Amino acid sequence: MTPAPVKASFSPVDAPENCALCPRLVAFRHQNQEKYPTFFNKPVPSFGDPDPELLIVGLAPGLQGANKTGRPFTGDASGDLLFATLEKYRYMEGTFLSRADDNVKLHNTLITNAVRCVPPQNKTTAAEEANCRPFLINQISRPEKLKIILALGLVAHNAVLSTFGKTRAPYKFAHGALHDMGDCLSGTPITLIDSYHCSRYNTNTGRLTEQMFEQVFQTIGNLLATR
Ligand code: URA
Repeated sequence: MTPAPVKASFSPVDAPENCALCPRLVAFRHQNQEKYPTFFNKPVPSFGDPDPELLIVGLAPGLQGANKTGRPFTGDASGDLLFATLEKYRYMEGTFLSRADDNVKLHNTLITNAVRCVPPQNKTTAAEEANCRPFLINQISRPEKLKIILALGLVAHNAVLSTFGKTRAPYKFAHGALHDMGDCLSGTPITLIDSYHCSRYNTNTGRLTEQMFEQVFQTIGNLLATR
């Protein structure tokens, strides 16, 4: 079934729909608008609770997923494990149908991406990550209750470190690792937790199993219960 294109509402903290900061991504967007006229084909806004305790940071929209549907992790395999786990740990209400009009609601969590536009071959560049950083900074500094940031993969991990002005060496990416980020702009102490990205490649190769992913959410639940 072809997902219906969504009319997303852009919040001021997200990239404008005609964002022109990254020439390569703008060229790719125009190419995709020609090739896939029914797709969303714009910077994909964050999705979920605007004032959450948990922020989830992915890499970038997938061509046939978020770039098609207009909602992060929706429309391709990478979202199946994420939304199933969110449901299991009670961050999600509704039935996830992998389409933006499935009426799924998130509680206490917001999903965003290190880069908001789909990149060719699913690979972002350092310049694109830097160009998109102001939107991530907005997402991290605005929620007053924010306590935990879950980075899905190394690119997200590095993007969060840069947002906090941290160098990489003391904060090595490792599945399940916890990193103290100090206070965010609202003054709340923030913990960064890493997970392997929930991509189909990682789940097919066994780098990330359901149990490993759930363990991360178990840790998040334990941390939130103590704060
Ligand atoms: N879809 C997203 O929105 N982000 C990812 O990191 C992968 C798929």
